[in-house]
Amino acid sequence: MQPQERAMLAFRLTHVCKHYDNGHQALKDINLDIEAGSFVVILGPSGAGKSTLLRSLNGLESIQGGEILFDGVQVVPRNLRHVRSGVAMVFQQFNLVGRLSVMTNVLTGRLARRSWLGSLLHLFRRDDVELATRLLARVGLTERAWQRADKLSGGQQQRVGIARALAQQPKVILADEPVASLDPLATEEVMAMLAAINREDGITVILNLHQVDLAKRFADRVIGVNAGSIVFDGPPAQLDRNALAHIYQREGDAHAQPVPALLAYA
Ligand code: ADP
Repeated sequence: MQPQERAMLAFRLTHVCKHYDNGHQALKDINLDIEAGSFVVILGPSGAGKSTLLRSLNGLESIQGGEILFDGVQVVPRNLRHVRSGVAMVFQQFNLVGRLSVMTNVLTGRLARRSWLGSLLHLFRRDDVELATRLLARVGLTERAWQRADKLSGGQQQRVGIARALAQQPKVILADEPVASLDPLATEEVMAMLAAINREDGITVILNLHQVDLAKRFADRVIGVNAGSIVFDGPPAQLDRNALAHIYQREGDAHAQPVPALLAYA
């Protein structure tokens, strides 16, 4: 890859295939370039392979065929430290350590960038604490800094998850259904926060969603996955009823039928 191309691309996937130990083929020949700085939403029915695709980007799932490049570097076990320091993750269930303070949870985002010994001893430097303090202010949780994380509401916990991701100072944030456990107000807050991070910090955001309306409002690119293959790739304006029918087509359907419940979004 040329240096210029490398700077413009967050990920390049070529002929990526993944099957689980039970033989299930979760990803089938995925080819994809994801531009640095983009806001990408992955849509698709449950079981389509969205989570597998997202998790393979930072090596949480290994692939059996093809190649994934992050920042021009192959996502393989020997490069995982580099990949994981540049790619942060936000989870549906937040994955905080509930008995630790909000501040400590945010600080754990620094561990990917610290020495092995420092990480082991949970030694945080003064500049790490200053960064975490700024990030907690950014996500509106200054007053909660020293509370146990499990005392916070779901929306607040997800904001801690976002602050922890930012503490990593990543180039990319991957978010696996980050609003699936949240109420509508918290959903809006979290989506607006991810959009602001993308816009203001230039961090590439790639997320899996179930809500077509949110994809339409926030994404600059939508990737539709069905049965392990990419069946749609375009701007949200192209997400019409045919595209939605195609993305949400069920296995065994002879033809993509407009799905009545989805027509409101087309
Ligand atoms: P989605 O995120 O779109 O719901 P997933 O990526 O979680 O889909 O799963 C894709 C397919 O792979 C599904 O059929 C799922 O049952 C299967 N799958 C996921 N994880 C495993 C696993 N650890 N072992 C076997 N099959 C799995």
